[in-house]
Amino acid sequence: MHIAIIGAGISGLMTALELAEQGCSVDIFDQQQAGQAASWAGGGILSPMYPWRYAPEVNQLAQFGKPLYQMWNEKLYPITGIDFQIHDTGMLIFDQDDFEVGLNYASTHHEPMQQCDLLNRKQLEAVNPHISEQFEQAIYFSQLSNVRNPRLLQSLISYLKQHSKVRFFEHCSIEKLIIKNKKVHGLQLDDGRQFFADHVVLSSGAWSKQWSKQLQRNIPVQPVQGQMLLFKTPENWLPTMCMNQVMYLIPRQDGHIVCGSSMAECGFNTSVDMQTQHNIFAACLSMVPELEKFPIVKRWAGLRPSSPQGIPYIGEMPNVKNLWANFGHFRNGLCMGAGSAKLLRQLILGQETIVQAAAYSPERLKQDNLVFQ
Ligand SMILES: Cc1cc2nc3c(=O)[nH]c(=O)nc-3n(C[C@H](O)[C@H](O)[C@H](O)COP(=O)(O)OP(=O)(O)OC[C@H]3O[C@@H](n4cnc5c(N)ncnc54)[C@H](O)[C@@H]3O)c2cc1C
Repeated sequence: MHIAIIGAGISGLMTALELAEQGCSVDIFDQQQAGQAASWAGGGILSPMYPWRYAPEVNQLAQFGKPLYQMWNEKLYPITGIDFQIHDTGMLIFDQDDFEVGLNYASTHHEPMQQCDLLNRKQLEAVNPHISEQFEQAIYFSQLSNVRNPRLLQSLISYLKQHSKVRFFEHCSIEKLIIKNKKVHGLQLDDGRQFFADHVVLSSGAWSKQWSKQLQRNIPVQPVQGQMLLFKTPENWLPTMCMNQVMYLIPRQDGHIVCGSSMAECGFNTSVDMQTQHNIFAACLSMVPELEKFPIVKRWAGLRPSSPQGIPYIGEMPNVKNLWANFGHFRNGLCMGAGSAKLLRQLILGQETIVQAAAYSPERLKQDNLVFQ
């Protein structure tokens, strides 16, 4: 079976990996260098930030992130030499209004990652000695982890480029799909070249609305910009992830701390602005004042592929046979990435699925007057 995948972010790369490992031959296309868009820009928290604020469909797929990435890291590391560092730091959440709902959530859910405790100031200091004195309490999710997503992407790209079943086409923009008799047969590049395949996967992230016109169906996916900044502290300086008012600190093993993030609808703009950067900086210091003494070594912005309720579209597109979706992961595409790709592979190959697929089905695109105007 020959499969063409449009988009080499986490969604496309993981889909390529799942399919190639099952013996499919895969062509993967990206308009830029692979793994440089939202999936590079993200933070890599392996859970929705306040899980109770998200639809169960999002949490359900996110649960697969950590165990699947652990499994893939063990398999890929000996071949690529790249460890994508699943860092078990736990997370402290300081938003008082979320304490009760967070504790209730923990008591009604059973995965280790979903368990939390309410810490008093003394316990808080024992877990993380750098927290601002303004916080007397926090809820602590001790099992939450983050993945070093730029390395995850590097590892996937390196492994797939060595894979005998996979071909990469970078800096190749797909202009249209080749569709005849309500079935996809391949795709066409902007330079006119055509590639044929048995199945085509759309994993084009924030750019997915581009298919609306050809498919005559509104695809409600928009880019939502998120800005970040990066501190460099000594190795293992900050022991936990921290979260307050939707701003977070994500420590990496080598002392880098990823901080973000903002939310803005400004099209495909990926430039940073100093006001937003200042707001992020202020939010970081309000959690961990000592950060002020460390250098900021990088600033960037990425484009999240927003979708209604953040529930991704995974499955066969309505009315076009063999055309598949894996897009619209909004704020949670890294934690959902491994589970989403596994689900899509199972659907394409007609295998038993890890979750009930209907909730993610692109059939949703038929509803709610979403027909393209
Ligand atoms: C600041 C920020 C922080 C985040 N933090 C987290 C987090 O902590 N945890 C988490 O789970 N998620 C997080 N996310 C969300 C996550 O990064 C995204 O949901 C995820 O990366 C989406 O992956 P993707 O592969 O669908 O899209 P992308 O990574 O954007 O990849 C899509 C690819 O498709 C290509 N493409 C599009 N159209 C075409 C075309 N016509 N032809 C060829 N190629 C095309 C693009 O060039 C791009 O490379 C964050 C996002 C941002 C911006």
